[in-house]
Amino acid sequence: MPDHVPGPDDLDPGQNDIPARRDVVLDDVYEIAPDGFQRLWMPHRLAYIKGEGKPADASAVECPFCAIPKLSDADGLIVARGTEVYAVLNLYPYNSGHLMVVPYRHVADYTDLTDPETDELADFTKRAMIALRQASQAQGFNIGMNMGGVAGAGIAAHLHQHVVPRWGGDANFMPVVGRTKVLPQLLGDTRVVLADAWPKGEPQT
Ligand SMILES: [Zn+2]
Repeated sequence: MPDHVPGPDDLDPGQNDIPARRDVVLDDVYEIAPDGFQRLWMPHRLAYIKGEGKPADASAVECPFCAIPKLSDADGLIVARGTEVYAVLNLYPYNSGHLMVVPYRHVADYTDLTDPETDELADFTKRAMIALRQASQAQGFNIGMNMGGVAGAGIAAHLHQHVVPRWGGDANFMPVVGRTKVLPQLLGDTRVVLADAWPKGEPQT
């Protein structure tokens, strides 16, 4: 088994972070089985480098979490949009259904969130759990935020709450089968399933 087991923040969909993070994940896969699938990771970037969110030029760097809401739900892999926050699939899921709750506002630190942002981030976290339980019978969750690069945040400038569904034994086979779970079509399917299961209506209390 590899020494390094990918965690949620190895898997952020940052434009600048993707090559390095892809290498980390693939290295782990290589240690288990030689793979011919490396090129299959590349199409995932398309959702983030096309459309209105595309940087104006090659040198321009736009925060992906600011760019994603400008895309369609399908292109951005957005599961649900709220008033203050949105829920989006992670491009490199630790488990199928791994999503993130992200404020629209470009804000780095949890203590800088407004009350409405704090409330809806919590509400969307609950809705994500409900949707994942309904759609995939998740048995447990890893939920949390990494504040700052030193804590492991892949995109430290724009905070994001990870919601990772867990099933018994998933950590054992995920490094092997994980490579098949990142195909764009499967992510698109996952998005549709979770969007359909997303609880509508009043805040979850
Ligand atoms: Zn941002």
